[in-house]
Amino acid sequence: MKPHFSPALVREDLRDFAGYSSARTSHTGAPARIWLNANEAASASAIDPEGQQRRYPQPQPRDLVEALASCYGVNPAMVITGRGSDEVIDVIVRAVCLPGADGIVISSPTFGMYAVSARLHGVPVHDVPQTDLGDRWSVDVAAIAHTVRETKSKIVFLASPGNPTGSVIPTADLLWLATELSDAAVLVVDEAYQEFSDQPSVADQISDQPNIAVLRTLSKAHGLAGARVGTGIVHPQFAQVLLRVQAPYPVPEPVRAIAVAALGEVARAATAERIQTTIKLRSELAQILAGLSSVTAIYAGQANFVLVRSTGPDALLRLLADHGIVVRDMRHLPGLQDAVRVTVGTAADLEAIRAACTESGAWISPTDVEQAKQRIT
Ligand SMILES: *Cc1c(COP(=O)(O)O)cnc(C)c1O
Repeated sequence: MKPHFSPALVREDLRDFAGYSSARTSHTGAPARIWLNANEAASASAIDPEGQQRRYPQPQPRDLVEALASCYGVNPAMVITGRGSDEVIDVIVRAVCLPGADGIVISSPTFGMYAVSARLHGVPVHDVPQTDLGDRWSVDVAAIAHTVRETKSKIVFLASPGNPTGSVIPTADLLWLATELSDAAVLVVDEAYQEFSDQPSVADQISDQPNIAVLRTLSKAHGLAGARVGTGIVHPQFAQVLLRVQAPYPVPEPVRAIAVAALGEVARAATAERIQTTIKLRSELAQILAGLSSVTAIYAGQANFVLVRSTGPDALLRLLADHGIVVRDMRHLPGLQDAVRVTVGTAADLEAIRAACTESGAWISPTDVEQAKQRIT
């Protein structure tokens, strides 16, 4: 028999919480002809002649949930969708952690929203820093398990591939940690960049290990950051808990329509092609940056960006800025006081970076990444 989701993982004071009962969720389903239960307008807005926006949307639009489930290869009962994975992160924190009591564990350098959501909810954040291995980063799952027990934390947030590291956490490590924490904590594996990696998703482990929660998003590989569509893939019983905590109508109708279209066959084929191009350009970008004599480390990783360390991050940022190229200064993060993160753009963007680097006079023109890496290490 498959294991259940442990109620002990849910915030104690919310275990019997029913959530907001909206007009959409409280309708019994009896056949109806005239809908007068939600105080919607009697006729369509002048800017919406066909009236597509007149009604409140379904809390979890059926067609979108099914399209996401099919895209990620999971059962629709395991899907919860919302305004970006940012919202799913927030909902998980609020559903699991009692403010002022339960904590979360992160492993820096990592995505900033875990700590932001925790802080806004009055939940302490415990950090078990990653180890820099020179060309990638490593997460210490044994130390994380220890910290969860010491601090009585209820959630571990790990991104794989990581942001800003680009490094993947071995599946065996993730499963070991989830098993170790079975009744103690939820392990959130943020797979925002999974499409760019060669490591499979851990989503299909959830039925055997119900304390795993996986985050996916349409913001990166699918090219829809503006639409704000994120997905939590969780045990069906945990999904029911999260839906009670989430805002009543988290998916606006125009967003539903765009996202369903983006998950159709034609758009998905184009997305798959863009992913392949990005992976190819990622190593070219790493190669170009490795040619800068000021660059001391390159983490090409398995996402859609490259992280670099430089003896002169200021000069590197200025050089790119002089050519109108904006990249992410990472110097505010602990352990990354000399680092810059560059997103993989188009082939033309890459040529602009190449031009900036070769013009700079600080470029040593390596013939390949390996050679550059040897210079660096
Ligand atoms: C970009 C990013 C997200 C944000 O995703 P949204 O769906 O746009 O909210 C989540 N996690 C990581 C690690 C990211 O880098």
